[in-house]
Amino acid sequence: MKINIYEKFIKQNKITDLHIFLTFNCNKKCKFCYQKNYSKNTLNINKLKYYLEEFKKINFIPNKIIFNGGEPSLLKDKFFDYLNLINEYYPTIYKSINTNFTANIEFYNKIIINGINNISINAIDLNYNKLKKIIKNRLATYRLNYVVESDSNIKKIFKLCYNKKISLTICNNFINEEKVDITTLLKLDNAIKTQFFLYEKYLLKDYVFFTCSFNKMGRTNSFSILPNGGYTNKFEIIRQGK
Ligand code: SF4
Repeated sequence: MKINIYEKFIKQNKITDLHIFLTFNCNKKCKFCYQKNYSKNTLNINKLKYYLEEFKKINFIPNKIIFNGGEPSLLKDKFFDYLNLINEYYPTIYKSINTNFTANIEFYNKIIINGINNISINAIDLNYNKLKKIIKNRLATYRLNYVVESDSNIKKIFKLCYNKKISLTICNNFINEEKVDITTLLKLDNAIKTQFFLYEKYLLKDYVFFTCSFNKMGRTNSFSILPNGGYTNKFEIIRQGK
């Protein structure tokens, strides 16, 4: 009997999740970005359908599905073609998107209505009012990784996340310059120990905004579909941004 290469790959690598990198293109150039390139390739939707058909044959059901990038919202309305396709195959599986929060409010509300369960916002210079408006929609959960470039919003954002029980990672970009008094924020409530954490050494280490774990060999537990149509579980290949 012919061995299905995807089944072999999934079993051998203990794959649990599906990551879909629709594009590595991005409208930001964060200094902490894990990508080495920002290729404008966009995943061919027929290629995605091909993978989904293959997964169906081997009954692969991921624990969760993450839309990743680059910035997935740059696809604008086209994003919903991919999301709808995923919904056809995996209507009840938990779906999340990683975004830099630069799309408009309508986009975020629409993805929630169309089945995204969680929005992970990796952002610098957050628009507080936009954040407040979007998190009103309690049909989704939110996670916020906030890199503090200036202190204009931080207290308001902290309180909003605390009140709404949104997981918040504060990354202090000015750790050596002490422009933001994180210590004062941390004193706001003891519950911070469970709801929030602080990643002070953010810029100093290999920390990346990547929502799956990877082992010492740089292999993730995810089947990652890349914009060029390839697939991998190796972080270094994802990092190439092609
Ligand atoms: S971290 Fe995200 S938002 Fe920033 S440049 Fe990289 S892909 Fe774009």
